[in-house]
Amino acid sequence: MNALLLTGGRIIDPANRLDAPADLLIVDGKISAVGKDAAPKAPAEAERLDVKGQIVCPGLIDLHVHLREPGQTAKENIATGTAAAARGGFTSLVCMPNTAPAIDSAGTVALIRDRAAQAGIVNVFVTGAITKNIAGEELAPIGSLKRAGVVAITDDGHCIQNNELMRRACEYAKMFDLTVMDHCQDYSLVTDGVMHEGYWNTALGLRGWPSAGEEMIVARNILMAELTGARVHCQHLSAAGSVALIREAKKRGVPISGEACPHHFVLTDAAIAGGQKFWATDGKPLLEVLPRQATFPSWPNYDTNFKMNPPLRSAKDREAILEGLTDGTIEILCSDHAPHCDYEKEVEFDYAPFGITGLETELALSLMQLYHTKRLSLSDVIAKYTTAPARLLNLKKGTLSVGADADVTIFNPDQEWVFDVQASASKSKNSPFHNWTLKGRATGAIVNGKKVFAEQPELAGVQ
Ligand SMILES: [Zn+2]
Repeated sequence: MNALLLTGGRIIDPANRLDAPADLLIVDGKISAVGKDAAPKAPAEAERLDVKGQIVCPGLIDLHVHLREPGQTAKENIATGTAAAARGGFTSLVCMPNTAPAIDSAGTVALIRDRAAQAGIVNVFVTGAITKNIAGEELAPIGSLKRAGVVAITDDGHCIQNNELMRRACEYAKMFDLTVMDHCQDYSLVTDGVMHEGYWNTALGLRGWPSAGEEMIVARNILMAELTGARVHCQHLSAAGSVALIREAKKRGVPISGEACPHHFVLTDAAIAGGQKFWATDGKPLLEVLPRQATFPSWPNYDTNFKMNPPLRSAKDREAILEGLTDGTIEILCSDHAPHCDYEKEVEFDYAPFGITGLETELALSLMQLYHTKRLSLSDVIAKYTTAPARLLNLKKGTLSVGADADVTIFNPDQEWVFDVQASASKSKNSPFHNWTLKGRATGAIVNGKKVFAEQPELAGVQ
């Protein structure tokens, strides 16, 4: 028997509406008891961990991660990507299919699931491509992807432009009870834009990526969800108009949903003009949530670690994303962890690939902008990383109910720390948050009853 008893923590389990000081007993990889009977039921040989002062919650799920394996393992692989996830407090992640080859066949799904079983430190759920080779032209074999075990379909990184093809994808997805996740980008509007179209792209002389390029596809997806009855999920929302569209559609009962990533609700396009400009303008509201002695990180203008797709938008858009998260329009938080090699990012802004890493900073940034600003309770923030993604993708995860898989995250919402990207477990170092003083940190992660990460020595040791 393998038993682990966590004592003295504050357990927050949104699935069971529990928020109270309580003990938690794990036996043989499953949750065995929560609360008063946990300690008495613990076998004598159980390992005991004192987690006083810490939050104990269901293992966090990140439903938008690029693991880059197969084919792009100079950027990341399953071992390093899942190590970064564990370090960030995540016990499950959902990986995107834009690998090389793309995950568009049952064989590739099987390969990833095998690799994840061998090298993965946390649970890995696989998504399949909507179209063959993510080319947006011909549907992938959606039924056989489902049988191979994908939890959703998406062409993430790309967006199907042909609405008739998207309709067929939604119809198949509905038939196979899969969620369609979509990277919302209208190519004819966005063309070769590299940053938000607004004041700063004009000032900096960079080509604009207008908000309408996202909103157009969000509107299309709402119509498709309504037409077909399929669950359609809009990935990494960045624009105010997208939030308004989804809010209105949800009121009508359309099966549409959305997610937001911390960079879109922490940063703005002003950051591309450099650290000084950012802190003097759109960075000001952050001063209230950053720890008091924080040294303000600086970065040059045209720093490619601030280039992602969709791009950082205006302060008004950032506020709209925060409002959408606060009122429940946006149910899910995730990272869009998108590792790239230094040599790829160390080029002119126009030529750098889109994307940043995020697994190790997202919990802190979410806590800072949502919990420490009093927009949401801790339980509500946790729900966006547990019950909400589990519900969307039908994962049997995200709860501390007795009998559930013992995936547990332990974190301290008030711990202040400095993120050093060089110490990251990810293979890639393309984060805009290097040297930021953050508030809130994962201190432990347990996957299927096994400790996979423990920050503090006392959490690592047996008492
Ligand atoms: Zn994307």
